[in-house]
Amino acid sequence: MPEPLAVRELLDLDREHVWHPYGPMPGRAEPLLVESASGVRLRVTDPAGDRAELVDGMSSWWSAIHGYNHPVLNEAARGQLDRMSHVMFGGLTHEPAVRLAARLVEITPEPLRHVFLADSGSVSVEVAVKMCLQYWRSRGRPGKRRLLTWRGGYHGDTWQPMSVCDPDGGMHHLWSGVLPHQVFADTPPGGFDDPPDPRYAAHVRELIARHADELAAVIVEPVVQGAGGMRFHSPGYLRVLREACDEHDVLLVLDEIATGFGRTGALFAAGHAGIAPDVMCLGKALTGGYLTMAATLCTTRVAEGISRGEVPVLAHGPTFMGNPLAAAVANASIDLLLGQDWALEVKRIESGLREGLADASSIARVRDVRVLGAIGVVQLDHEVDIAAATRAAVRSGVWLRPFRDLVYTMPPYVTGDEDVARICAAVLAAARQG
Ligand code: PMP
Repeated sequence: MPEPLAVRELLDLDREHVWHPYGPMPGRAEPLLVESASGVRLRVTDPAGDRAELVDGMSSWWSAIHGYNHPVLNEAARGQLDRMSHVMFGGLTHEPAVRLAARLVEITPEPLRHVFLADSGSVSVEVAVKMCLQYWRSRGRPGKRRLLTWRGGYHGDTWQPMSVCDPDGGMHHLWSGVLPHQVFADTPPGGFDDPPDPRYAAHVRELIARHADELAAVIVEPVVQGAGGMRFHSPGYLRVLREACDEHDVLLVLDEIATGFGRTGALFAAGHAGIAPDVMCLGKALTGGYLTMAATLCTTRVAEGISRGEVPVLAHGPTFMGNPLAAAVANASIDLLLGQDWALEVKRIESGLREGLADASSIARVRDVRVLGAIGVVQLDHEVDIAAATRAAVRSGVWLRPFRDLVYTMPPYVTGDEDVARICAAVLAAARQG
């Protein structure tokens, strides 16, 4: 084992050499150093060398739903590690991937039957787009190659996903003119419980009808728009999309990378609307936050359409496709989730968040407070001072990562009531400081 590095040395090397998400080079803000994590607690050291234990309010960006260092997931990883951590997937297959694909088909909406195991959420969206474009190409309609989405979305940082992220608010406006030019509807209005606005429904229907000849697919995040602004909308709009897509021969892709596996109170957010997409993307909580893996599922109609084309294969095959270690942990994570009353746990956290965030609306310059499932959001009327807000949360013993005008939390489902209350107190403290 190499000698452990001193905290200062590590942070200096980090600043000089390591890109962080959406970070400058060299780094400006000093990250906290995580030494270990278990349950819902992260053990961190700050730049002054002071140690602290923080309750995790982020589930490592929606993924660590069972908390950290979980004995069942650890055992699944260890068992698989002793067999093999990876083999190529071209010409070979293995039980963890086959079991996972079959399980995903079993638990997702009925017509989804075929699974592409990709290596990250963004790649699974690339694959979804490729499936849709290739489907129409194979059916002799290559002109159907654009995508429609609504504003305020986020689908990842690679090229096609960037083209359907919010064109104004996100980080990707730098690339307008370079990215494929997609069709944007307005952001869905209202909240989760509001009835769908017929004018908005008409707006979306009209856009789909007008562009039908050039649209391969509509792609949206169902019910919760995550990194594009943490907005919730009526499931009724998903039914509108489904109907309009069917009527005008356009495929529907649901990106459930953030919403999947119970986060919104339904196992998949499409369940709130009782609809099924033609293509669905999953990721993040798929492996309980242990390893990077995502999945793109499609219907037999899409798969057969592709297979009947001039190029009858889906030409995509990443090196780490179907990674056995990630698949084994994903299988264990799904067993763990479905082996308990997960909906009750998410409801319990939802109640805790509602209670704990109720006072946020009285904080000066708070614009909105909203809770859905195990997601709590406090929206300010201005950009958050991220460093000040994060410091306030850390002082309250909680890890949060605010962005734009948002202080928000999506705790692991195993977070106890006291820790949920603590997270809420930290959100309030961060909102006051931020
Ligand atoms: N889609 C959605 C809805 C997401 O929230 C994210 C990640 N924040 C992605 C796609 C991209 O996933 P990844 O970061 O694993 O590439």
